[in-house]
Amino acid sequence: MLNKIKTLKKPLIIILVLATLFVVGKNIFSPKHSANKEAETKHFSEPVAKNVILYIGDGMGPEAMGLLMQYARYAQNSKYIEKQSVLEKFMNDSAQGLVLNNIHNGIVTDSAAAITQMTSGEISSAGYIGMNYKKQPVKTVLVKAKENGKAVGIVCDSELIDATPSGLVAHNLNRYDKDNIAEDMINSNVDVMLSGGLAYFISKKQKGSKRTDNKDLVALAHKKGYDIVYDKKGLRNSRSGKILGLFSNKYMPYAIDKYERENLYVPDLSSMALKALRVLSKKEDGFFLMVEAAKLDWALHMQDAGATMHEMLAFDETLAFLYKYAYNHPDTLLIVTADHDTGGFGFEYNKDKSEKQVIAIDGSKAKMGYKNFASYENLDRLYGQKTLWQNFQKEFESFPKDQQNLSNFTALFNNMFAMFLDKQELKQIFETRDYKAAKTLLDAKRNVVWATNNHISTPVNVIAYGAGSEYFKGVYHNTEIATKISVILGLE
Ligand SMILES: [Zn+2]
Repeated sequence: MLNKIKTLKKPLIIILVLATLFVVGKNIFSPKHSANKEAETKHFSEPVAKNVILYIGDGMGPEAMGLLMQYARYAQNSKYIEKQSVLEKFMNDSAQGLVLNNIHNGIVTDSAAAITQMTSGEISSAGYIGMNYKKQPVKTVLVKAKENGKAVGIVCDSELIDATPSGLVAHNLNRYDKDNIAEDMINSNVDVMLSGGLAYFISKKQKGSKRTDNKDLVALAHKKGYDIVYDKKGLRNSRSGKILGLFSNKYMPYAIDKYERENLYVPDLSSMALKALRVLSKKEDGFFLMVEAAKLDWALHMQDAGATMHEMLAFDETLAFLYKYAYNHPDTLLIVTADHDTGGFGFEYNKDKSEKQVIAIDGSKAKMGYKNFASYENLDRLYGQKTLWQNFQKEFESFPKDQQNLSNFTALFNNMFAMFLDKQELKQIFETRDYKAAKTLLDAKRNVVWATNNHISTPVNVIAYGAGSEYFKGVYHNTEIATKISVILGLE
């Protein structure tokens, strides 16, 4: 595989690419940064890769990656027969880097500034979409790829007007100005856009609209030649080279809510990514595709460990398709990374001694240590969680009043979270209806801890596979991802 890729490049180009990256890296916060980058990248006429897939796990710090890998390896009932996640396999086969993601006005970033920095190479500020910190619009690698004759695509499993998808083409100093962001999305002429958020594309006269004006962006998209699809079947059947998929009125469902997904006929992340690949790869001049596992960040903000596990499993399922594509197409570069870390999830050891016996790594029964060091059963428990944590209260309160008793409270809790608690453990919570305390107990029982329900500054992984992947080794700032992609694709 590697030998095949190596034949695509010329030694001189490699030296020049490395020299450019070094120069750009040194000047990352200097005002001359952009000018230098432009001057240096002019040297490259021959691209290293034809296609780039940028796969972003929103909020996917190393903690979420570790959770997936530990589940795959060590859960007693791991759904991975080979006991290895795709992510682990992929990392063993790829070049690794670590990126810092600080922004102009802070050590911590949001998704808006992060995607702007990662795809434009320019420093941005919190809440800015496609704008640098000087409030000037920037050009992302996606826009440049389109101008260079490549097909381009955006796939996201939350809403199309969310920060990450919109940061690739829209320009706005306020990520929440969704009316104008939606308009920018349609005017971008991106070949394939698949996500949720239909409410921002229909006139306020229409039922379910979230717009504040009467603009009908669906009609505008029609005029621009888009085939507009609204469900799994429509997506599957579309033969167009220009598709706008808006699969839910607001955000798309969580991976853990499979029941809801089946009801709505909503495609999942992997089927959207696969369709985008099929359409874009028909273009002779290559493509740039951004795929975002967005709901992961939402699960992490909610501090919902079970939902996080299911988002990571969905992430991994999609990675399998992207990895396979890159493996079969040596002219393709697949970059997996995150915009930032959210939540700071971890398993901790604690003093809960209610579990006298635990399952050991080899599946045998073992005595608990001098503290509760987090039994491997927790991995199966997180997988066994049936719906979002926040649905617990709603579910219980939907019982007829005379059935809202301690027995049913305990049964529902144990069923929803794959736990075996007795009534006594939940009695006080039931009597006071203190759902916050129920969440605290749930986390403690699963040895789950969180640093925050916000974003944190932890550097995130960059994992690159295929043509040009070796340029992603090392430690750098996230603005350099854009520079590297530009150089590798030979974008002007
Ligand atoms: Zn977030």
